[in-house]
Amino acid sequence: MKRTAALFDEIVFPGGKTKAFTLSYDDGTIHDRHLLDIVNRYGVRGTFNLNSGFLDLVDVKDGPLGSFDLSKISTDEVIPLYTGHEVAGHGLNHASPTDIGSSAFMYETIEDKANLEKITGKLVRGYAYPFGNYDDKAKDILRYAGYHYARTVEVTHDFSLPRDFLEWKATCHHNDPQLMELAENFCKDDFMAMNKQLFYVWGHSYEFALDDSWTKIEELCKYMHDHGENVWFATNIEIYDYITAYRNLEYSAEGNMIYNPAGTEISIRRGGKLYSIPPLKTVIID
Ligand SMILES: [Zn+2]
Repeated sequence: MKRTAALFDEIVFPGGKTKAFTLSYDDGTIHDRHLLDIVNRYGVRGTFNLNSGFLDLVDVKDGPLGSFDLSKISTDEVIPLYTGHEVAGHGLNHASPTDIGSSAFMYETIEDKANLEKITGKLVRGYAYPFGNYDDKAKDILRYAGYHYARTVEVTHDFSLPRDFLEWKATCHHNDPQLMELAENFCKDDFMAMNKQLFYVWGHSYEFALDDSWTKIEELCKYMHDHGENVWFATNIEIYDYITAYRNLEYSAEGNMIYNPAGTEISIRRGGKLYSIPPLKTVIID
């Protein structure tokens, strides 16, 4: 078959949106309450990485500037607090995946998963590496335990989709001096728009309390809400599932037939035109 241009397909997210935005917050301290207040007000969504072994823990730290409350949320709060968001694993007791030996890491991982699934009544399939530490062995253990993605603490400063979901890197931390610049660039529809697919921000909610910087996250969420008409606000696992289904589309050799083996509709853009491929259906593109 002769073509006049190279084949190039682009992912289109649910609702016909070409971009996705997500948050990832670790440790489940009591400051998640205030963070969720802000996030929910602007329709932003994200993933909260909990240590089930620390739930209900009272933890007040004394420092040179006075005491600081790092207590964790209670078990009973998990469902009401995180409704509409994703609860993901962060290890039973926040042990470092690369510094405790395989069997202890396996226990940290699978025990945490079982606890969080019991508490939420849902499958827990996402994870964030405690201390950001990971290696090939940790990735294997997570894969065997049924985790499909794991967030690192490395950042990209770009808006690309991850190649290896067990080494998922965020765009930036919320303390990044470029945070708002990145948000503005992401929302802008200029000639670079096709490289703007995913804006991913991570952090800890206690940092807002410690630095008295709640306005920072409020400003970000408000900006995304006001400028995100072309942005899908989603949790990490929703983004993982959609991208994976997109990558699992099966193409004919000439690229004009596409089969969708997934259970959800997947949309693509080719040559400026939008095509939706229903679950378990083949679509022919002229
Ligand atoms: Zn942590």
